[in-house]
Amino acid sequence: MRHSTYLEVNLGHIGSNFEKIQELAPRAEIVPMVKSNAYGNGMVPIAQFLVRDCGVKKLGCGTLAEALHITEECPDMKADLIVYSDTELHDSDLRQAYLNLNITPVLAQPRDLELVLKDPTFKRMPLIVKLNTGMNRLGFTWEELEPFVPRLKERGIEHLMTHFARSSDVLKPGDKTHRQMDEFNKVRTALLEAGVEIRGTSVSNSGAIEQKFGVEETFVRPGLMLYGPPSVTDPISWNGAQCSRLVTKVLSSFHVKKGTPVGYGVNVTPKDGYMVVVPIGYGDGMFTYFSGTKLNVNGCDGYIFGRISMDVAYIFFDPEVSSKIKVDDRIEIWNHDNRVITDIATQNKTIAYQLMCGISSRIPRIYKVK
Ligand SMILES: *Cc1c(COP(=O)(O)O)cnc(C)c1O
Repeated sequence: MRHSTYLEVNLGHIGSNFEKIQELAPRAEIVPMVKSNAYGNGMVPIAQFLVRDCGVKKLGCGTLAEALHITEECPDMKADLIVYSDTELHDSDLRQAYLNLNITPVLAQPRDLELVLKDPTFKRMPLIVKLNTGMNRLGFTWEELEPFVPRLKERGIEHLMTHFARSSDVLKPGDKTHRQMDEFNKVRTALLEAGVEIRGTSVSNSGAIEQKFGVEETFVRPGLMLYGPPSVTDPISWNGAQCSRLVTKVLSSFHVKKGTPVGYGVNVTPKDGYMVVVPIGYGDGMFTYFSGTKLNVNGCDGYIFGRISMDVAYIFFDPEVSSKIKVDDRIEIWNHDNRVITDIATQNKTIAYQLMCGISSRIPRIYKVK
């Protein structure tokens, strides 16, 4: 097991973020997203914690394989798993998985719904139907759904949902999110008027929940905010704690003169300074494009220098930092303060989601309860 570099995940922070989400959506049932390795934090331990300690009854996966992995690792877990994107319904072997286990696919295209309604073995499978209200990625338009209404009347819809494209923007009346909500309500009303029973609904991801939008529906589906960072970054109103700390250490360090080439390629130091080599590279999720990112390490300002390699990266400091940062010292790339990861993401024109999901399998996840 690797000790130099690890992702420390504080489950207590996830628990308190969960409670804060419940305060924002007091009447909704929370369906946390554990897709993409629980946003990099380790899918199985996070799923177990959410079910055991937070009382969660439903978990959101992105792919059927993720749901199967949870059921294999946790055969006794009492939670329904929902597969939101890659359902693999059209593989006749794989779709058998939906028959016996508590795994339900989200139906997002006419051919999926047709298949499920036609196949007698799926007669008891609850129907989760996704509407396209303007994101134009997955989901039914009303025109696509209407032909199914006679058959939907017999079965009812267990969970009618949609997904917002711009909920991480500050909401304003008449904006995209409001228009998507209007469209959702229009289709919901049309279904109800046609006599289709709708037993549950959901619309909100983190950006919407942070702004208390759509929280009157049956379910909310938080991902990012549960793990810490805000989805709405300007201004920030969500005050969750970043659940993880990405920790590495000083592998070696040395003074460099202006013009010294360091690492692959022809990157030379712009001035005299102090170079710190850390054992974390693109093989760990420290992507090459992070080069140039400003970091504050133990109170000292530096930046990621030159070409990040597979196993190591370089942080460049002013010469006097050599008295403060020494070989074997721990270095936090990010910590429990959300602003750090959000700042790294902003500097790199990306989002905290990607930084977290990008942490590779070579980094051990270490769990702390408090
Ligand atoms: C990923 C996902 C979410 C969670 O989104 P966040 O922005 O991380 O909160 C919610 N719903 C669906 C359908 C998703 O795919």
